[in-house]
Amino acid sequence: MQRRLAGKTAVVTGGANGIGRACCERLACEGANILIADIAAADETIFDVERAGGKAFAQHCDLSSSEDVARLREKVDERFGGCDVLVHNAGIYPNTPIEEIAFDEWRKVLTINLDSMFHLTKAFLPNMKSKAWGRIIAMSSTVFHSGIPGYCHYSASKAGLIGFVRSLASEVGQFGITANAIAPGLVRTGTTEAGLETRWFDQTVEQQAIKRTGEPADLMGPLAFLASDDAAFVTGQTLLVDGGWRFV
Ligand code: NAD
Repeated sequence: MQRRLAGKTAVVTGGANGIGRACCERLACEGANILIADIAAADETIFDVERAGGKAFAQHCDLSSSEDVARLREKVDERFGGCDVLVHNAGIYPNTPIEEIAFDEWRKVLTINLDSMFHLTKAFLPNMKSKAWGRIIAMSSTVFHSGIPGYCHYSASKAGLIGFVRSLASEVGQFGITANAIAPGLVRTGTTEAGLETRWFDQTVEQQAIKRTGEPADLMGPLAFLASDDAAFVTGQTLLVDGGWRFV
């Protein structure tokens, strides 16, 4: 594998599990040092990264706290001299009909999934600007357009990420920084397996052009591309990685 990110540092939020764990391993294979920001223990991810020949550190960081994000930045600066690639992957996705969503739940989803993007960008942008190179990648979701019931708050947060990177791209392109989003369809992770009935996976596969369930590995080619110099002229975009899913 090409080491397109040799000498770079990637911060991956939610890197302890699921898609985020796969992001850490892949970016390490590309040569990046990895800083995992999560509320969960990340020992297994660190093991994966080290097995891939990389270096990883975990920082306990609750993304709903701007103070935790500020501490995260200090840790990244101290360990690796700044962040070059920010992958904001952490997110929660409770399925609740609108009439049952209390305002606290609404705020929690928006805070963890979207407000965090604001805090993370403010924290890491100055260093990227000073190096005239940076990659900002948000893990959105195809729910922004599929209209799946029970996800009004989640869809709003993921659509918000798409608008955010589109506008941000216009501001930071002149500094060698790109901002893009990846929108996965249904991906098999511990959380989706525990939270969704089997029929969800079966129905989704039926509605996809590619007749199998998405796995975290399916997102890693697009991620590594967007993080690399190969994507230097790609910005403000949202890449749907969903096996050609048409939700009906
Ligand atoms: P996951 O639940 O397996 O992992 C999410 C990680 O985020 C966990 O390690 C968790 O501890 C961390 N996290 C949660 N709240 C946090 C907080 N406040 N601060 C810091 N870390 C926090 O999820 P996943 O299935 O791997 O999904 C990852 C991302 O991809 C999410 O943003 C999700 O919305 C998005 N996504 C997932 C799917 C899917 O089908 N799995 C589809 C589309 C989009």
